[in-house]
Amino acid sequence: MGIRICGKISPGAIAGGGKHESFFHRLGKRLFAGFADELREEIRQVLQRETQELERSVEAWTWERYQRTEKLVENWTWERYQQTEKLLKDTIDRRLQKLMPLPSLRTLDVHIAEHCNLNCQCCDNFSPIAEEQYTDYDSLARDFARLRELSHGQVGTIYLDGGEPLLHPRIADFVSLTREHFEESDIYVVTNGILLAQMPEAFWEKCASNHAGVLITKYPIHLDMETIEAKAAEHGVVWRFYDESADYKEKTTTFMPLDMHGGHESYQNFVNCYHANYCIYLWEGRIYTCSVAASIRHFNRFFHEDLPDVPENSISIYEAKDMDEILRFLCRPIPLCEYCDIPGRTFDIPWGISKQEKSEWAHV
Ligand code: SF4
Ligand code: SF4
Repeated sequence: MGIRICGKISPGAIAGGGKHESFFHRLGKRLFAGFADELREEIRQVLQRETQELERSVEAWTWERYQRTEKLVENWTWERYQQTEKLLKDTIDRRLQKLMPLPSLRTLDVHIAEHCNLNCQCCDNFSPIAEEQYTDYDSLARDFARLRELSHGQVGTIYLDGGEPLLHPRIADFVSLTREHFEESDIYVVTNGILLAQMPEAFWEKCASNHAGVLITKYPIHLDMETIEAKAAEHGVVWRFYDESADYKEKTTTFMPLDMHGGHESYQNFVNCYHANYCIYLWEGRIYTCSVAASIRHFNRFFHEDLPDVPENSISIYEAKDMDEILRFLCRPIPLCEYCDIPGRTFDIPWGISKQEKSEWAHV
C-alpha cells in the first residue's frame, strides 16, 4: 500500500503545524489525520492477521515436528532399549549359565573309544592324534555305579561318543550298561555313521530294548542312509542327525587354538567358552567341564608338549562328597583355561581330514 502526498502540502508543514496555518492546511491536516488513523488501523489489522497466521503455522509446524521427533525418539529408544535388554540378557544368561552350578547334570558325554575312523581336522577330542584306546567295560560300570549314587540317577542325557563309539566291539553292552544305571536318562550313541549300516543285529536290538537313540553327525561324506534307515525302522530305533536346525547343513570345522605360552585370562576364557560347564565329560572316574581338558593328554603326547593335564582340571567322583561339590566344580575355570585362545576361535571353516599337524589345534 502506497501514500501519495500532494506537492502543495509538505510533510514538514503537516507534521510541524504552527500559528500561521491556513484553513486548507488545517483541513488537510484533519483529513490526513483521519486517513492516517484509518491506515494505522488497517496496518494493525493486517499485522494482527499475519501474526495470528504466522503463530498458527509456527504452532502447527512445531507441534507436528514435536510429534514426529517424539515418535522418532520413542521408537528409537524403545527399539534400542529392547536390543540392549536382549543383549544384556543373553550375555548375563550365558555368563550365569557358565558360572552358576547346574541343578543337576543336564548332559554327560562318555568316551567309548578315544580314536576315530574319520579323523577330522581340529577335532576337539584330539581323536586323529589319539592312540587306539577302548574304554574298559568294568571300569565304566564302577564309574556309573558311583555316579548314580551321587546323582540319584538324575542325569538328563547321556551321550556315548568318543572318538568313534561304534569302533568298540562292546558298544551294544555299553548301551545296556548305561540304561541299567540311569533308568530315566535319555541315552544316545553319537556316531559319524561310517559303521552304522554294517552294525550287527545285537547293536540295534540293544538300542531298541534300552530305548537308546542314535545321533549321526552330518559330515560331508557318503553314508548308506537307505540301509541305516531300514535297520533303524526294522528295530524301532529312533535316529536323527545331530543338529537338525533349519540352517544346519553339514558339519564344518571349528579352529580352537591352544596357546603354548598360556597367560590368557582364565575367567574371561571360561565365561566365553561354549564348552565350559556345557560339554561335561566323564573319563576314568573323573568329571571334566569340557572335552578339551578331558582329552588334552593326546595333544601333549603326540606333540611332546606339557600343557596342564593336572588333577585340578577335573574332579574325582570318588573323592567328591556329593553331587553339589561336582556341580560347583564344573562352573569354575580350570588351570587349562589359561592356555585356550577363546577370542581366536574361528568357526565355519570347510570340513577336512586331519594332517595331524600341530597348527590344527594350536598357534605355532
Ligand atoms: S568324527 Fe568326531 S570324533 Fe571323529 S575325528 Fe571327527 S570330530 Fe573327531
Ligand atoms: S580349558 Fe577352559 S577355556 Fe579351554 S575349552 Fe576348556 S573350559 Fe573352555
